[in-house]
Amino acid sequence: MKLFLKTVKTAVSCAIATALLCCGCGAAGAWRGAEENPGTAQRDGGHADSAGHTVGEPWQYADTAMGTVVQQTIYTKDEEKAEDFAEQAMEVLRRLEREQISWRLDTSEVYRANTYAGSEDGFLLSEELSVLLESCQLLWERSDGAFDVTLGAAIRLWNIDKWAAGEAVEDFLPPSEEELARALATCGSQRMRLVREASAGPLRLFLPKGTQLDLGAVGKGLAMENLNRLLIQHPDVTAAVISLGGSILTYGSKPDDSPWRVGIVNPFDTSDSIGILTLEGQWCISTSGDYERYVDLDGVRYHHILDPKTGAPAVSEVRGVTILMKDGLLDDGLSTACFILGPEKGMALTEQYGAEALFVMADGRLELSEGMKQYFTENQNRK
Ligand code: AMP
Ligand code: MG
Repeated sequence: MKLFLKTVKTAVSCAIATALLCCGCGAAGAWRGAEENPGTAQRDGGHADSAGHTVGEPWQYADTAMGTVVQQTIYTKDEEKAEDFAEQAMEVLRRLEREQISWRLDTSEVYRANTYAGSEDGFLLSEELSVLLESCQLLWERSDGAFDVTLGAAIRLWNIDKWAAGEAVEDFLPPSEEELARALATCGSQRMRLVREASAGPLRLFLPKGTQLDLGAVGKGLAMENLNRLLIQHPDVTAAVISLGGSILTYGSKPDDSPWRVGIVNPFDTSDSIGILTLEGQWCISTSGDYERYVDLDGVRYHHILDPKTGAPAVSEVRGVTILMKDGLLDDGLSTACFILGPEKGMALTEQYGAEALFVMADGRLELSEGMKQYFTENQNRK
């Protein structure tokens, strides 16, 4: 377990909040406190086993993958089983990046697909990426083009992957209008063709020369889907919360049946929370905000969510948007789309997917979908 920074839990809220606060100021962090639980009977009255672990309390692990801090809180009786699960989860995330979604690693499917842009034969996708890109194309249509996985050239131009929250990026200069126009000419999901060769099975992807996929807006969603499947394969793990920067997966029930309490970061002060979601069982929670990755220059904030119409950081009345639903992939995709669309169009979109939405507006107002109200408690002392 060398790679893991393992903390046997003694003060869960404190440990997680601290770690995720770091996450909030780090490369891709968006969340504060995966679980803000005021305490349980077991915690206060539990007894320690021979390893010093309080019975009924979770095992915790922190590590990095996919460019973000991964926090795992795992409920299982046995430390060995917890470690085994935590290691497998990290391998799932690293494999996902290495073999499927990285635009940078030449071992990944997205990298290979991008090298086939302009080829007449196209690129035969795996079943998994076929399903993924089909969902992405539908989301592009339904979001009126706000969500677009073909923005690779524009994203490279801004060099977003080099940005972290608020850290100075040496030599940052916004691209010129000519550069933007050139990159934009290669972007747009209308240029992407997915062709089914048989009645079922994988699709063949056709991209014109220069068009590049970037799956940054759904990577963590895909990760949540994979981790949820892994949890189902591990019946010994009865409950878990896994936080990956801007996305959090909750699973199962705690030994004392108390609900999950997930804090949502306050975009105006990322050390604060805007409120808490109280949830039972399995959920995916994704947030997109202008405080996750950005550069401030001459009073302008350049953030990592681009408006496909301009190729530049979206000018939005929204500072942050949180989507709550069972499906991880769409959860992550919808949060990105909704940041650009704003509450009115965004809520109409999330309704089509049966998802709930919470918008934090630039003037501090909160806009919640009707269904979100039953889960959300506002922090009355928020900054
Ligand atoms: P998220 O943090 O989930 O909102 O995703 C943001 C990431 O998605 C960025 O870092 C880019 O890699 C990519 N991206 C930026 N703008 C868009 C967009 N309009 N549609 C799809 N992906 C985008
Ligand atoms: Mg997203």
